Amino acid sequence: MAECGCSCGTKQPAVDPAYRRVLWIVLAINAAMFGIEGVSGLIAGSVALQGDSLDFLGDAANYGIALMVLGRAVAWRAGAAMLKGLTMAGFGAAVLASTAWRALHQGVPDAALMAPVGALALAANLYAAYLLFRWRGGDSNMRSVWLCSRNDALVNIAVLAAAGLVAVTGAGWPDWLVALFIAGIALSGGISIIRQASGELRAPTG
Ligand SMILES: [Zn+2]
Repeated sequence: MAECGCSCGTKQPAVDPAYRRVLWIVLAINAAMFGIEGVSGLIAGSVALQGDSLDFLGDAANYGIALMVLGRAVAWRAGAAMLKGLTMAGFGAAVLASTAWRALHQGVPDAALMAPVGALALAANLYAAYLLFRWRGGDSNMRSVWLCSRNDALVNIAVLAAAGLVAVTGAGWPDWLVALFIAGIALSGGISIIRQASGELRAPTG
């Protein structure tokens, strides 16, 4: 399935109950971090945190879809992917609009809240990657888990760098720049998922 470059190694159906348990754990981590980072972003006035939370939402959706496929609810997959695409595109557009608004009003985020939440996001992604590596070591999707985790970690580090620059400069632009980048990825990824899912929904192959 077409993803935002972050399908996080969910392509291979494995029936190992231990693997299923790992999927549930990383789903919970990602869903919790979507809430924590999203709410913190609103409190801190940081659009970069809000944007970064979207990756957790997308990853949580990927693990949810993977679990549905393991549970043989394959018929629901295209519908779930469509829902994910619409949500990602909608949130991405909202963060972009919010970024424009913050830039127009020269809003400066609270760097003292951005930094620890960004660090927590990095730790959550590294821990999820560790769990997936442990259970998927040696198989062909290790590379996709690696690429996905690396990209997520790089974005988390960009958020931390933005927090540092905001603290040093006392200006909001580092926050807006990182948000622009992350929300742009979420929006374009969401649109490509919608395209693919609408094709699958129109022509079900069984
Ligand atoms: Zn991700």
